[in-house]
Amino acid sequence: MRAIVFDFFGTLTDPAAEAGRRESFTATAAALAIPADRFWQAMGASFPDRITGRYGDTRATLRRIATECGADPDEADLDAAVSAQLAGGVRVRPPRAGVLDLLDRLRADGYRLGLISDCSSELCESWPETPYAPRIDAPVFSWQEGCRKPDQRLYAAVSARLGVSAAECWYVGDGGSREHDGARRAGMRPVLVTNTAYPDAAARRSDPDPYTPELTIADLDALAPLIRT
Ligand SMILES: [Mg+2]
Repeated sequence: MRAIVFDFFGTLTDPAAEAGRRESFTATAAALAIPADRFWQAMGASFPDRITGRYGDTRATLRRIATECGADPDEADLDAAVSAQLAGGVRVRPPRAGVLDLLDRLRADGYRLGLISDCSSELCESWPETPYAPRIDAPVFSWQEGCRKPDQRLYAAVSARLGVSAAECWYVGDGGSREHDGARRAGMRPVLVTNTAYPDAAARRSDPDPYTPELTIADLDALAPLIRT
């Protein structure tokens, strides 16, 4: 095995941080003068299209969502809304405890590191500024690729960009978006992170994977021992 492909939200990020998403959306809604509940509902309904790039970048997305909600923000309102939305994006992606050191150690051990994330524009636009960027050799984002997990094109893209075969890749994720079934079909070796210490995390998982990998770990600190065996 020469590479490890990670999921992003709830895997590299602190699973507890997802609980802050609604509050961060509330700040964006306020900037657009849209009721918070209406904005939350519109963002949820548009999720499949937003994460595959069909709403465009963050500014275009917020303009369109505002229109769908009956608002008519001017450019200054949009500036404020984009700032609020990107700041909210920072709040939902703090690194899981110890994860940056883990990524450094895995690279020092010679593993190539990849990422597949079902994500909207905010993460792609901010990626270079995140502490993850210098540690991930090949990030693959649904928003950029125009398809979402478990679409096989995402798995093919990450292994190609890592310069390895799918059979040489571990796939490590917390089990949203049917990601492990996709990884298994791609020929990768799936590992489920159960996040046992985060009882609310499972409830927040989008499109849970009905397939459970043979290999499961409670937290990422168990990954290095597992892949060395
Ligand atoms: Mg996840």
